[in-house]
Amino acid sequence: MTPATFNCTVLRDGHQSLAATRMSTEQMLDIAPILDTMGFSALETWGGASIDAGLRFLGELPFDRLDTLKRLAPKTPHMMLLRGQNMVGYTNYADDVVEAFVKMSAKHGMNIFRIFDCLNDPENMRTSIRAAKEAGCTAHGTICYTTSPVHNLEYFANLGKKIKEMGADGIVIKDMAGLIPPSETAALVETLKKETGLPVWIHTHETAGLGAATYVAGINAGADAVDVSIFPFANGTGQPDCMRMLALLRGYDRCPVVADDFRDKLTKISGMLQPIYESLSRFTNHRNEIVNSDTLRYQVPGGMLSNFRNQLKEMNMTDKFEEVFAEIPVVRKALGWIPLVTPTSQIVGVQAMMNVKFGRWKNITPQCADVALGYYGHTPAPVDPELQALCAKKMGKDPITCRPADLIKPGMQDLRDKLTAKGIPATDENCVIYAMFPQQLEDYYAGKRPEPPTAPAKPAKQENYGAPVALSSVGVSAAISGRQMKLNILGKVYDVQIEEV
Ligand code: MN
Repeated sequence: MTPATFNCTVLRDGHQSLAATRMSTEQMLDIAPILDTMGFSALETWGGASIDAGLRFLGELPFDRLDTLKRLAPKTPHMMLLRGQNMVGYTNYADDVVEAFVKMSAKHGMNIFRIFDCLNDPENMRTSIRAAKEAGCTAHGTICYTTSPVHNLEYFANLGKKIKEMGADGIVIKDMAGLIPPSETAALVETLKKETGLPVWIHTHETAGLGAATYVAGINAGADAVDVSIFPFANGTGQPDCMRMLALLRGYDRCPVVADDFRDKLTKISGMLQPIYESLSRFTNHRNEIVNSDTLRYQVPGGMLSNFRNQLKEMNMTDKFEEVFAEIPVVRKALGWIPLVTPTSQIVGVQAMMNVKFGRWKNITPQCADVALGYYGHTPAPVDPELQALCAKKMGKDPITCRPADLIKPGMQDLRDKLTAKGIPATDENCVIYAMFPQQLEDYYAGKRPEPPTAPAKPAKQENYGAPVALSSVGVSAAISGRQMKLNILGKVYDVQIEEV
């Protein structure tokens, strides 16, 4: 029996899930070479939100990061998450731009493309899968796991078969919300392997505490590889940590085989990551580090939950939390049960808020209307015809049934012309980045670098505080949970954020 293998996500999803994608290339320099010696089947080093965040917040050119990490970790295959026709942006791009993006990524060292679509529409994966194969790379068709009346084993098996027909080398079960139960994982792995004969890899999150058990069940059912990360950029909203997975899988036939010094290296890297995690404390959140079963109750990704709390606060709708959440399945059903993943999680979330605030479908966002009219692709189930008619009227355009990118003219020449006019080198690398993040690339070449995040406020010197007082003696008590403290002073309760001095 072939053992399963581990992929390491610490340089991408690990910090995307736990530190708002803020780990810089510099912070990765000492870790990448060690990771390269550990026998991981892949290192996830690029893609997802890391390209947007690196350029926008860290002032890094995306291909420079890939070059650096490839140079430091040349032996292990590099892996990236690609949103099909959306590339690593938030809308559909022209085929020639998608082809150029994949080609440039391959040129700079990318090996495995994990290609998904936010609607699970295989047509939106077709160009990327073909481009990855043409570039001599591995293409993994990626299925977004979600729950709905139409997302059953038969649906996922059919999707797997279509992905195989398109030429994919493997299938990834992408459980972005950490919602898949172990028993269902086993059934899904068995079905996909049986129906496609392709390797099946699993990607999940420990958000609701199911992740590690899901991997054990998946591996016992035949999964070929699972994604793990390294503490402290692991667990909670991130991937299960590698050390724990090894312990959990011990004694099973297909437990990944690791070298004698593997655990020592994990410990060493954890130690190196600790100060990096602390340096990103502006972006980390205790809520993300723990198991949170809210996500099971609401069936949405953890990132969406925290965005949501903030947005409801901004709209003065905190008291409507339960009502808005009850509206999410209503919106999903009307839009043909679309999964909740970037960017549909945002589209559904905002529309649910609008429906509660203004009345159902009284105020429809253009993005929601575009989903209803087919401009994102085929939805898993038909869109509610009444909603579709309403959106057509409101937007003044007809629904489409073709692949949305068929309506987009080739874009590379136009991008080259624009860059040349702006005095920016019109390389294919710059063109594909400019297609997604024009302002950020212009700022980069204009020498504008993002402001570094403000350093945590320096605490006043110890002597200014006076002698410590035992709390109970002056009517003060405190309840501490992680870095949050409820401080009760003479009956009045204060929320306090604790920072280490
Ligand atoms: Mn993920």
